[in-house]
Order: sequence, then C-alpha cells, then structure tokens
Amino acid sequence: MPEYDYVVIGGGTAGSVIASRLTENPDVTVAVIEGGPSDVGRDDVLTLRRWMGLLGGELDYDYPTTEQPQGNSHIRHSRARVLGGCSSHNTLIAFKPLPSDWDEWETAGAKGWGAVPMEAYFARLRNNIVPVDEADRNAIARDFVDAAQAAIGVPRVEGFNKKPFHEGVGFFDLAYHPENNKRSSASVAYLHPFLDRPNLHIALETWAYRLELESPLTSGGGSLRATGVHVRTKDGEEQLVTARREVLVCAGAVDTPRLLLHSGIGPRADLEALGIPVVHDLPGVGENLLDHPESVIVWETDGPIPENSAMDSDAGLFVRRDPRARTPDLMFHFYQIPFTDNPERLGYERPAHGVSMTPNIPKPHSRGRLYLTSADPEVKPALDFRYFTDEDDYDARTLVDGIRIAREIARTEPLAHWLKREVCPGPEVTGDEELSEYARKVAHTVYHPAGTCRMGAQDDELAVVDPELRIRGLDGIRIADASVFPTMPSVNPMIGVLMVGEKCAELLGGTA
Ligand SMILES: Cc1cc2nc3c(=O)[nH]c(=O)nc-3n(C[C@H](O)[C@H](O)[C@H](O)COP(=O)(O)OP(=O)(O)OC[C@H]3O[C@@H](n4cnc5c(N)ncnc54)[C@H](O)[C@@H]3O)c2cc1C
Repeated sequence: MPEYDYVVIGGGTAGSVIASRLTENPDVTVAVIEGGPSDVGRDDVLTLRRWMGLLGGELDYDYPTTEQPQGNSHIRHSRARVLGGCSSHNTLIAFKPLPSDWDEWETAGAKGWGAVPMEAYFARLRNNIVPVDEADRNAIARDFVDAAQAAIGVPRVEGFNKKPFHEGVGFFDLAYHPENNKRSSASVAYLHPFLDRPNLHIALETWAYRLELESPLTSGGGSLRATGVHVRTKDGEEQLVTARREVLVCAGAVDTPRLLLHSGIGPRADLEALGIPVVHDLPGVGENLLDHPESVIVWETDGPIPENSAMDSDAGLFVRRDPRARTPDLMFHFYQIPFTDNPERLGYERPAHGVSMTPNIPKPHSRGRLYLTSADPEVKPALDFRYFTDEDDYDARTLVDGIRIAREIARTEPLAHWLKREVCPGPEVTGDEELSEYARKVAHTVYHPAGTCRMGAQDDELAVVDPELRIRGLDGIRIADASVFPTMPSVNPMIGVLMVGEKCAELLGGTA
C-alpha cells in the first residue's frame, strides 16, 4: 500500500501549487492523484490559442447542466482532465481578485482571508503574468477599446492588476509566454520544473473514487480522520493511497463535492435517499453553486479581420452601473470571432467573419446546487445552477443592460466602420422582455463554477471548511480549490484559485 506524508487529490490549478510548495522540503513526500494525463510535450494543450479545440474533447469531463427553465438548458461545463486542470484548458486571463472580493470573504466568515493579508500570495505566484503582447493586439480589439472609452466614458486600463478598479476597458493580463504563445498554467509554472524531485510522485490517469476515513476509536482522536483515498489506476487496478499527515482535496468545484458525497460526507437525507452510508452529515456539501453567466451579441464584419491574437478574447470592459457598488457590476469579453454556438439553436446563422461581445454578471444573485442522482461513482453529478432565478430579476436585467451598452459601443468609431450588421439578437429586438428572453436563452457560462464546499466561520453549519480549509468535523483533511469560495469574485477566478493554493501550502507549513 503506497504511503506518503500528503496525498493531493487533483493535480489541477490549486493542486499543482500545493504539491510544488510542499515538495520544496525534501523531507516531505507527496503523491498527486490526477485523473488526466500529463500536459508535458502536448502542443494541443500548451499552446494557449488552441484552447477552443479542447472544449468537449478527450481531455474534457464535459458536465451537463440540469434543465434551466429560466435560462439555457444546453450549456456544457468544460472541466479539464489533464495535469494543470482547468489552467491547462482555459484562456488564462489573469485577474487578482479585487480588494472588496476578498473582504467579502472575510465578512462571510473566512477569517484571515481579507484583502490585506491575501496580497502576499499574489506576489508569490510563479506564473508569468504579463499584459497581452503588442504583437498579439489585434486592430479590431484596439478599436473596441477606443470605442468603449469614447462611448461610455470609462477609463482605459493598461495593466488591470496594477491597482483596484471599478470600471475600465483594455487588454487583459494573461498567464502566458508571448514569444511562443505557450501557457504559464499551474502545471507549467509549478510542476514542470520539479518533475524530477524524488519526493514528488504524480499518479496520472488515476481516479480517486472514495476517501478512506478512520473512526475515532481506531485513530485515537476525537473525530473521524481521513487517512487516504481509494483510487483506480489507468489499468483498472484499485489501490488505497495512504496519507501519514493529511489528505488535500483539490478536484475542483464539481469533483470535490462529488468525491465527498460518494464518501458519505454530505447532507444526510440526500445520501440516505441514494443508499450511500452516511459517514459525516455535512449539509453544505454541494450547496452554493456559483458561476459567472454571460450572454452574447454578435456582429458580422465587413470581411475578414487580421489574424493576430493571443487567444481570440484579449480585451475586455468593466462597467459599474450602480455608483454605490463596491466592484464592477457588468463585465464584457470582446471576442474576435462570431461566437454563435448557442444562438444557432434559436435559428441564427454564423457569419463567415464576425466579432462578439459577451456581457457577464460579476456578482450574480442566483445560487445553484450540485447533487448526486446515483450511488454509482461513474455517474456524473447533477449541476443545477438555477440560472436567472433570483427574485429581483437582477441577473437577467444585468444582461439586458449589457446588450444595450454593447450596441452603444458598436455604434461608435473606431469600431463602427468594421461592422456590417448585428447578427444576433438583431436590431429589431429592442424591448426589455424580448432582450431578456434572448439573453437568457442563449446564455452561456464563463466556465467559472465555484462555491460548492464553501468556507465559513467555525459555527457556520452550512460551511464545509473552516478558515484553515479543514473540513468541519473531520481530522486530517482539507479542501483547496474553487469549491471553497464563499462568494464569487467579480473578476475571472483562476488567480484567486492559485492564491488559495499558496495559502493552503502556507497553512501546511510548506512554503518559505
Ligand atoms: C474553458 C475555460 C476557460 C476559462 N477561462 C478562465 C480565464 O481566462 N481566467 C480565469 O481566471 N479563469 C478561467 N476559467 C476558470 C478557471 O480555470 C478555474 O476556475 C480554475 O482553474 C479551477 O481550478 P481548480 O483547482 O478549482 O480545479 P481544476 O483546475 O479543474 O483542477 C481539478 C483537477 O482535479 C482532477 N480531478 C478531478 N476529480 C478527480 C478525481 N476524482 N480523481 C483524480 N483527479 C481528479 C482534474 O483532472 C483536474 O486536473 C476557465 C475555465 C474553463 C474550463
């Protein structure tokens, strides 16, 4: 039976950071259990601009959503099955969460996670975070930036991570190497340079399906203790991998709660209904499913646009409609492609050449839930995001405002002369109701699920982990990934996840 000091489940975004930091100490042994293959030498993964080719492919767990009566029931949630996790698959837009995002966590009970103490972890990140390179700045994206500035009067931002902002338009910071368009993902930055460490063992294409928990009588402590994890290797062999010190669950916002639930950790009634023996009644597991939903507006361009780009969505816009809001309340990605996957289902056609703006909701009000439908660990969990179900209709109204603002920008030079016609929703769709219907039916995800094992105060019964990331009521096990987010940051979450990884490593004493 293999035995290590720490067993990290999931060699993804946070898991790579933790494994790397812990093995800086040669006396500490770490096993990483990773469901996917290595990304080393794989150009299809390592080349940032090829990210769309990974969607729905063999490296994608590809989770469906449940029926979404208010939204789009056809959304597929990509989750990467490869070393580096979603940081090997995503667009690597790199935003340090805004100070008020962290302070919101602290207010939600995550003591010690406020903006001031969290700053140190950003400084520690090993990823190559740089602004989109001049050579990658497409002429139409530059004109989008100028037009947005002129149309709605937001400042141009050069370096979104330099200081906190409420609004602004500009090119993103990305975690990439502009000279060859290669990723600076979690695996590239944190694991590739250290793969020869004798104290680091990475078990690839190995699936963790149940945690091993020891009763207090056997463990000699007061609580149930996690001592390892049952895995199935690529060859179908079943093994128990044992942790002398701790098990660290880093399987992401979908697979972390899934693993807990299959291990009998979760809401008692749900587990009993499926015949899963309840080991630890923890009602918050799977609750608080968060995301950044977005809609899309597409224009046909007057002929092809220039080819150059980092990853086809290099610039974006933040708007604060409510001057009392502590963060931006509307965000847009600008795509140099006609992103019509969802509108096509409503009968729209993809133009030969085009661009898109995708307004999204930085702080959505709707909350969803992840749950199991079967005791069989092979069956994918149900993801019910409950998109656009908030009582005050804030989420849908935000997207309607987004479409109107996008149109204003599109009418403004220097962007206007590029655009031949609005393809969808189309200029004839103007009323609040019609726009809302369109925005929700073609809604997509920015691929940011989070929050399903949220962190909270010691006495918060719906919290899954405490502010030191320990699972409430269990010994020897912590969670570190997007699932611990108490609330959604107003910006793209990957940097926040990497910072969770850095902080977790420090809590374990694994970093200088
Ligand atoms: C297409 C796409 C685009 C995105 N774009 C951006 C962006 O530009 N900027 C941004 O900030 N965010 C972006 N995101 C979101 C961001 O990438 C994620 O929020 C973040 O990477 C999640 O990190 P994680 O550590 O929680 O999970 P992951 O990185 O998903 O890591 C989980 C790992 O665990 C492994 N695993 C899961 N279950 C098991 C199991 N049972 N046994 C063994 N291994 C298991 C998986 O294979 C994976 O490697 C995007 C996401 C996607 C999918």
